[in-house]
Amino acid sequence: MNLKKAFTLTLALAMAASLGACGGSTSSESSSQPASSEAASSEAASSEAASSEAASTETGSLAKIKEAGKIVMCTNLAFPPFEYIGSDGKGAGVDIDISQEIAKDLGVELEIVDMNFDLIIDSLKAGKADFSAAGMTVKPERLEQVDFSTEYVTSAQYVIVQAGSEITTDNLDGLTIGVQESTTGDIYATDEIQAKEVMRYKSGVDAGAALAAGKLDAVIIDQLPAESIAANSNGKLEVLPEALTEESYAIAVKKGNQELLDAINATLERLISEGKIDEYVTKHMTEAA
Ligand code: GLN
Repeated sequence: MNLKKAFTLTLALAMAASLGACGGSTSSESSSQPASSEAASSEAASSEAASSEAASTETGSLAKIKEAGKIVMCTNLAFPPFEYIGSDGKGAGVDIDISQEIAKDLGVELEIVDMNFDLIIDSLKAGKADFSAAGMTVKPERLEQVDFSTEYVTSAQYVIVQAGSEITTDNLDGLTIGVQESTTGDIYATDEIQAKEVMRYKSGVDAGAALAAGKLDAVIIDQLPAESIAANSNGKLEVLPEALTEESYAIAVKKGNQELLDAINATLERLISEGKIDEYVTKHMTEAA
C-alpha cells in the first residue's frame, strides 16, 4: 500500500473528530482479548476426544483450528497503530483487525497473546501460537525460521529526535540510540551506525518514553509507530524526514504450515483488494492517539 497516501489521509482525519470506540467495524463476533488460557484446556480435551483424524494433523493445522473453534495470534501490543491496547483494555490496531478477518473467514474466534517482540518467532516454532501479525518485516534471516504471507504494508525505519534537535540522519554516529530489541531498527542501529551506545527496550513505546525523558539522543523505529509516538509526545518529539531503509510487513506462521498460509493469504488478498488495510491504518492512526 501507499503509506504516503495513507499518512496524508491520516493527517486529514486527525483534524476531524475521533471515530469513536474501536470494535464497531465490519468484523465478526470474534473478540480480541489479551492472552487467556481459560477454556483452552477443556476445548483442547474435547477436541482430542472428538476426532481421531485430528491426532495425525499437525498443531496449527486448519482441522485443529476449526475443531478448537479458535485461532491463536501472537503479537506485541506496543507498536501503534499496528497493535496497541485500546481504550477498552483489549488489543486493537491494524494487525488485530486483519487477524479478526482471518478468524472470521475461518469461522473461528480470535485469541490474542501479547508478548515481547523477540519471543514471537520462537513461539511460532514451538506451536504456542498459530500465526503472528506484528508489523513484522520480511528478512532473509527470519525466512529461515518461519514462513511469511503476502506482504501487506510497506514501511521503513525512521529516526525520532527531541523537537528542535540538530541531529540529522547523516550524523547519527556517536549518539546514544534507543531501539526495540530484536527489531529491524535494532539491526540497523547495530550494523549501520557507529553509535556511542544502542539501548534496547521491550517496546518502541518504552524507547520513545526514554527519549522524551532525555535519556537518549534518538530512537530508530518503523515509520508509522514513529509518527504515532511523536504525535503522542505533547510536542516533545519529532520524526526526521528521511527514511533509512525500505521494508515490507507480512504475517508469519510456523515453517511448512502451507495450508494455514494459503488461508491467511486469501484473507489478505481480499482485504488489500477491498482497500481495507488503508482504512485500518487511517482509523488506528487516529484511535491510537
Ligand atoms: N518491523 C520491525 C521488525 O520487524 C518492528 C516490528 C515490531 O516492533 N513489532 O523488526
